Amino acid sequence: MVVVGIESTAHTASVGIVDERANVLGLASDMYRPTAGGIHPREAANHHVELLPNLVKTALESAHVRPTEVEGVAFAQGPGLGPCLRAGATVARMLALTWDRPLVPVNHCVAHVEIARVLSGLDDPMLLYASGGNTQVIAYARGRYRVLGETLDIGIGNFLDKLWIELGGTFPGGPALEKEAQAGTELHPLPYSVHGMDVAFSGILTATLALRAKGVSRPDLAYSVEATAYAMLTEITERALAHRRRDTVVLGGGVACNERLRGMVRTMVEGRGGTMYAPPRSLCVDNGAMIAWTGHLALRAGQTSAVEQSAVQPRQRTDLVLTPWRGG
Ligand code: AMP
Ligand code: MG
Repeated sequence: MVVVGIESTAHTASVGIVDERANVLGLASDMYRPTAGGIHPREAANHHVELLPNLVKTALESAHVRPTEVEGVAFAQGPGLGPCLRAGATVARMLALTWDRPLVPVNHCVAHVEIARVLSGLDDPMLLYASGGNTQVIAYARGRYRVLGETLDIGIGNFLDKLWIELGGTFPGGPALEKEAQAGTELHPLPYSVHGMDVAFSGILTATLALRAKGVSRPDLAYSVEATAYAMLTEITERALAHRRRDTVVLGGGVACNERLRGMVRTMVEGRGGTMYAPPRSLCVDNGAMIAWTGHLALRAGQTSAVEQSAVQPRQRTDLVLTPWRGG
């Protein structure tokens, strides 16, 4: 039996079909790309409303799954952009009612941990979650996933996107900066803003634009930004590992596709004698498969929701969500 998972927290609309052994049988995704500037919640939601019905069809067809083989319908309940979340939740409710299957609300951040956990085979890893809107270090303790450290201002991906647009590029900025940074040779000092296990990025943005105005090349800026921002993330991850006496780390989020970040975290973790795992890119970015897999875990633990109690929660905190499948 399979669970269908629907992801629509931000710019990506995605439908995943996953079986009870975490095999991804089908995955169909489409990302909303603004023509100028950053993400507009209503336009992204319109994109999701338009595309989700076909993504459901494509995912089911590629998985060779009939609706009668579907055990439950999971959807990302939060955190995310309200209009975008509602688009996915509406499709999930409709499918659950039509197929007469349980509706399973899933926390998006928990889903990033769970897909990486099952793929890696690591029992109790810490997650460095680096995406557009989120930047957190997450670990499990006593019934919930806890946020040990996080950004104090903007998410790392939003920061990279904004910076790249200010430097004359287009969304998404992260992958473009990664390419640009490969030609960078000189490291320019930028504000290194680590506060305990938290980080902040807005100072780097201002300082980078000031360097640009002084004529520093874009490749050197991209290189300096990557080196600085990813060192900050690596440092807070290491501090969290040391405090919690752990030695395994998994990565999640679109920025975790970045080779420099992967390399820096791997060097740190392996230097401590531990293990680092990064999922394949299609399962690192926002995707319906992680929602479907976490839906399996939640369904087995009895976490279903009546349609009338399934309102989306744009500000749902990871540490307020119970995860009974992880034990006490
Ligand atoms: P997500 O919110 O998890 O879907 O991830 C989207 C974010 O990941 C965007 O801000 C992208 O700029 C960023 N991103 C995607 N690929 C890369 C990359 N290779 N390096 C850095 N950032 C990336
Ligand atoms: Mg995400």
